[in-house]
Amino acid sequence: MDYKELLKRGLKKVPEKIETKERFEMPRMRAQIAGSRTTITNFSEVSTALRRDPKHLMKFLLKELATKGNLSGTRLEVQGNFSEEMVNRKLDLYVKTYVACPECGKHDTKLVKERGFVFINCEVCGARHTAAKI
Ligand SMILES: [Zn+2]
Repeated sequence: MDYKELLKRGLKKVPEKIETKERFEMPRMRAQIAGSRTTITNFSEVSTALRRDPKHLMKFLLKELATKGNLSGTRLEVQGNFSEEMVNRKLDLYVKTYVACPECGKHDTKLVKERGFVFINCEVCGARHTAAKI
């Protein structure tokens, strides 16, 4: 390989362009299993990242996991043993159902309660959809 070729290869390694669009970063839950309980140690962090009420996320998660639990400071304590993978699968489902806009797929949305209904209002495209009750 000659020098020119080497130079070409080197140049190719430089990222072509920096992503300008802001990408949604999916938060991940950290689960710690101790005895017969599982603690989501960064629960409030995750709900803040999603801009959702921790109680709403908790209600969903407990229903999906078919268990009981309670908020304890920034953590969520859940009865039973659940792997991090399983908990995060439920989180993905939550995001799909209550965070992502069904119209444009963006995550800049708000949950609004009105007359007993819950709506997902999108701040990007303005779409408004009813969300299922938990
Ligand atoms: Zn939208």
